[in-house]
Amino acid sequence: MPFDPVAFAIPLFVVLVIAEMLWARRRNPVAYESRDTATSLAIGLGSTVAGALTGGVVAGTLVWAHSVSPISLGWVWWAWPLCFVLDDLAYYAFHRSAHRVRWFWASHVNHHSSQHYNLSTALRQSWTGFFALTFVFRLPLAFAGFEPGMILVCGGFNLIYQFWIHTESIKRMPRWFEAVMNTPSHHRVHHAVNPRYLDKNYAGTFIIWDRMFGTFVAEDDADPIRYGIVSQLGTFNPLKAVFHEWAALLKDLWRAPWRHKLSYLLREPGWTHDGSRETSDMIRARWERDKLDS
Ligand SMILES: [Zn+2]
Ligand SMILES: [Zn+2]
Repeated sequence: MPFDPVAFAIPLFVVLVIAEMLWARRRNPVAYESRDTATSLAIGLGSTVAGALTGGVVAGTLVWAHSVSPISLGWVWWAWPLCFVLDDLAYYAFHRSAHRVRWFWASHVNHHSSQHYNLSTALRQSWTGFFALTFVFRLPLAFAGFEPGMILVCGGFNLIYQFWIHTESIKRMPRWFEAVMNTPSHHRVHHAVNPRYLDKNYAGTFIIWDRMFGTFVAEDDADPIRYGIVSQLGTFNPLKAVFHEWAALLKDLWRAPWRHKLSYLLREPGWTHDGSRETSDMIRARWERDKLDS
């Protein structure tokens, strides 16, 4: 591939995290907690290592998919914006699955493990995405004739875009921007555990996918956001943040009757065969019932 834009963006990430920390000290002291930030940095570092170790195989798979495709778009200029938009759609599909299929959730949950929301939270990227085979969501682009290098560069820029939206320092962007683009406000909703916000706003760069597919919810200033996951992690241990859901999934698979094992892998987080836990839909339904009663 030509180059990895994320590697070039890392110094910018560091500068912006420090700038936001200084801003938060006076304006929003709860935004940062030093142990939480250290965990985010450790997870970010680990995911960079994991990405370096597995990037070759991902690129190789894309090269293979492109080589068996009858179409090759080459490096023509208009393929770039098209590739970026379609890759963002693929990201939406990936991200929605990452919240609705427990197998993918196990690799994505660490992105949501912080109870704080700041630029360092963005660095909590997956270590186990490769193991979970999340790169399959990008294969259709290679089959459709896009150059593997182009797909990876677009994916890199998409990830860079998503960095700056992890902040409480920006309330709302101009209205036209909020309509089309993913923004800090939209993505705060995505990181929230308030029932009304669960499993919403899966967008990477363009919020239009959520609006099109019915998963969009606007931030309601009357319902202040609580961040994290439904059962909070309760630790700053980065290894726990990265692996706890894999361990829980293994335990469930081990204990479940045979006819339910596949459901534990493929159904939504919180699903159990005996109804002993709650899915996000059940939490939202209970919240709506309580609202009617009161
Ligand atoms: Zn997510
Ligand atoms: Zn995020």
